[in-house]
Amino acid sequence: MDPATDFSTVQFTAELHRAARLIADSDYVVAMTGAGMSVESGIPPFRGTNGLWTKYGTPSMDGYRQFRADPAGYWDRQINEQIDEHILELRESLRNARPHAGHFAMVKLVERGFIKSVITQNIDGLDVRAGMGDSLIEIHGNRSRLRCIGCSKRTDLNDFVPLFVPDPCDECGQPVKFDAVMFGEPIVPEVMAAAREEIDRADCVVAIGTSATVRPASGLLWVARHRSKGDLKNGRTQREDAKLIEINPNPTKLSSICDVVVRTTAKAGVTALLDAVEQMRAARRDGRRPSVSTSSRLEPSA
Ligand code: NAD
Ligand code: ZN
Repeated sequence: MDPATDFSTVQFTAELHRAARLIADSDYVVAMTGAGMSVESGIPPFRGTNGLWTKYGTPSMDGYRQFRADPAGYWDRQINEQIDEHILELRESLRNARPHAGHFAMVKLVERGFIKSVITQNIDGLDVRAGMGDSLIEIHGNRSRLRCIGCSKRTDLNDFVPLFVPDPCDECGQPVKFDAVMFGEPIVPEVMAAAREEIDRADCVVAIGTSATVRPASGLLWVARHRSKGDLKNGRTQREDAKLIEINPNPTKLSSICDVVVRTTAKAGVTALLDAVEQMRAARRDGRRPSVSTSSRLEPSA
């Protein structure tokens, strides 16, 4: 085998082993996912290679202000496809996407108690379709739902492409928009509070497929990392910083503050992580020295 491939396989196995051990040693593990989680389902991210903004340019960042100024005009443009090319491509890919093995592995990680909750920045609903239940927080909403900007009442649209202009809210009469959070729009306070609560409980956070650049969601990763400083400022009990694990094929702003970085895609990384933590748990249960295999040849042990 090519020595370069050999080296990266050894490194991948070692990093995966370290990630599995951190998860097994932690009491409360939370995952935070971003657009990269769904790339292998055919939904392009915004940034990076094949990113929609890389292809079409960075769009205007005041979408929410424009919506508030003229909701009827917004919906008219949506229905008549007078919208940015990147949104046309995004909504078509959302419509055609199916969850991949990484989404299903994530559901198993939650069901088996390795991960307590998943905060996703994604608006594609693929985690729900993979079977994720109440442990999911869609911090940026879900594009296949509608939400009232007054009382936050949500209704299912069950599609990513609107065929009609939605009526104003039947509870409070305010305009209705996609549940997906627009640039310049505040995150729904209850949703932000739920995400913050999970981050505050976590002693380990796994960041998957996020460039960690979209605030305030990505800021939660730094909150977890620098907890003691923040807690002291708020006069709360000092707790240790959470451990951070990153799964991403590319370096990000987060990489340098992570304890473990697994340089691979979401599909390969999350499925391998599920195998690794299960092997780790079985080995500990049987009193064996844990080793994690990602190939039949390489089994570096702790
Ligand atoms: P981003 O577009 O800023 O960055 C994507 C990240 O994914 C990069 O770090 C990239 O290296 C990584 N990546 C690329 N391919 C990958 C793969 N196969 N596996 C794992 N990682 C991979 O994404 P972001 O940080 O989530 O921020 C963008 C914002 O836009 C978020 O709010 C996000 O929800 C939204 N968005 C969502 C979707 C979706 O719902 N699927 C798609 C595009 C954008
Ligand atoms: Zn309302």
